Amino acid sequence: MKRLILFLSLVSLIGIFYATLPNTKPMVIVCDVGQGDAILATYKNTQILFDVGPDNKKVLKCLENHMPFWDKTIEAVILSHGDSDHVGGLNDVIKTYKVNNFFSNGYLNKEIEQKIYSKKISQNDLISISLFDFEVVWPPAYVETTAGEEDSNENSVAGILSLKNNSWTMFLTGDMEMEAEQKLIWREILNKSVTVLKVSHHGSKTATSQELLEILKPKTAVISVGKNNRFGHPTKEVLERLKNIGAEIKRTDESGEIIFNPIEN
Ligand SMILES: [Zn+2]
Repeated sequence: MKRLILFLSLVSLIGIFYATLPNTKPMVIVCDVGQGDAILATYKNTQILFDVGPDNKKVLKCLENHMPFWDKTIEAVILSHGDSDHVGGLNDVIKTYKVNNFFSNGYLNKEIEQKIYSKKISQNDLISISLFDFEVVWPPAYVETTAGEEDSNENSVAGILSLKNNSWTMFLTGDMEMEAEQKLIWREILNKSVTVLKVSHHGSKTATSQELLEILKPKTAVISVGKNNRFGHPTKEVLERLKNIGAEIKRTDESGEIIFNPIEN
């Protein structure tokens, strides 16, 4: 009898061990942070986090669920811009994890700059961490908005996340608006299709033009948005445009967190 108990407890120990092992395949998770953005790319013990969501601790839940429990280091946090629905969770993240590198468009507010040092990134920069590549397409090295508006949505860091030796791609947009999208199209910086589009600005009608969608032709469009938010996001205009190009629409307000497994695609 004793032997059987020992055997059973060994089996359960092995079970627990395997359950806590890091994923052997890369995953990209659009965390459910309510109204805001936090997107985690994770492979074994390496992570890139795109934005940290609003100040509601939800980003921590996402990191806890998808990082190995012993891994308290995030290799890179990329902040698209300084709005609170994208950077509000910063205190919680830096209290709980060691962040090796912060990247931003260089226009974060003073309060944030006192907490972290971030390297400025712009068009043509490439951040390469384990299997993941993030190719920055926006903003350009010299911002083109009116002086004093450098920290606007328009200068959000945007780029293509991809995996080495894999065709899966995801366009990450922060809250960029149509004017920036137009420049990307006209200058032929963005002229190929992507697998997944992170819909800009939570589905605001001031972004995600039909013209851009016809170039990107995303199979899936993911909208990170809070339930019953006061902005009316996502707008019916953007939902309509996404339907027009036949993208499958996934929303965090309806489905909670959304997981992509690039290797299976
Ligand atoms: Zn936002």
